Amino acid sequence: MKAVVLGPAGVVVDDAPVPEAGPGEIIVSMRACGLCGSDLEKIRGTYTAAPPVIGHEAVGVVAEVGDGVEGIRKGTRVFPHHHVPCGRCPTCKGGSPTMCAHYRATNLEPGGFAETFRVTRWNVEHGGVLRLPPILDFERASFIEPLACAIRAVDRIHAKPKSALVLGAGPMGLLVIQLLRLRGTETLLASEGSSLRAEWARRLGAALVWDPMTQDVPAAARKETGGLGVDAAVVATGNVRAIAQAVRAVRSGGTVLLLGVPEAGARLDVDPSEFVTREVSLVPSNAATEAETRKALGLIARKKIDVASLVTHRFPLESFPDAIRVAERAECVKAILTP
Ligand SMILES: [Zn+2]
Ligand SMILES: [Zn+2]
Repeated sequence: MKAVVLGPAGVVVDDAPVPEAGPGEIIVSMRACGLCGSDLEKIRGTYTAAPPVIGHEAVGVVAEVGDGVEGIRKGTRVFPHHHVPCGRCPTCKGGSPTMCAHYRATNLEPGGFAETFRVTRWNVEHGGVLRLPPILDFERASFIEPLACAIRAVDRIHAKPKSALVLGAGPMGLLVIQLLRLRGTETLLASEGSSLRAEWARRLGAALVWDPMTQDVPAAARKETGGLGVDAAVVATGNVRAIAQAVRAVRSGGTVLLLGVPEAGARLDVDPSEFVTREVSLVPSNAATEAETRKALGLIARKKIDVASLVTHRFPLESFPDAIRVAERAECVKAILTP
């Protein structure tokens, strides 16, 4: 079977053995898998969190069921979450389930960019497999994982923001813009360097979208909020300059939410006194749990969040290098891989 894997020499479209289901495991025939910004970082070698398995926005049809699996049959349409927490350890109970030691210990094997992949017993037994309702097509269902991450991020903002600036209007930023709009944020602003993505941000609810290459984004955001600054600034890009801009754009007492993963080893040029004297909170959000994947499924199925219009490019697995090229140049909004 075809599988795109990350080897020492970079990404390769390989002829891999078809996986078989061991006890408690399931094998999924992939139907759609979104290309994520973190996949690009892993391919570039700038992503910190190991191991570098690519493809985690995968959905498909159950092709084989291992001994002892209950409630999932061959032919079931599923979203299998690549990481699942234990729910019982001090980290989980302390409110940080995505930091659970079990969370990243398992993954889809060999990854989501494969014709078929294995879902481990841990993930199956800990509720990581969601059944897709018949009305939900695979392409839209492939947004369950990224939307879940966006939901968790927005939930971590301290107070419901009346004004917000979203820095970066890639797929994650566009999901955040829609969630904020859904939750009643009145002044919704964005910054984005790609004119294509800026257009989508406007279409999906941002009142104003500035180009960070040519415009002073914090000054513009302050002007739009009567000099105050925004309640929340969501950094939906790995670009560290956007973090510095976000700190300058939030009001005193506001929240800077970090969602995009900066390159490993990057340095931030911010005066740290701002955090204390202006009570600016720096809140990171990394990944999501089944509390959010279930909500994401519901929002997509009920069309509360438009994910279909984000898909601008589709590639079969063998054209994976073309997908990377298009995504690296921000010439697409969302690229989806199909078997
Ligand atoms: Zn992702
Ligand atoms: Zn745990």
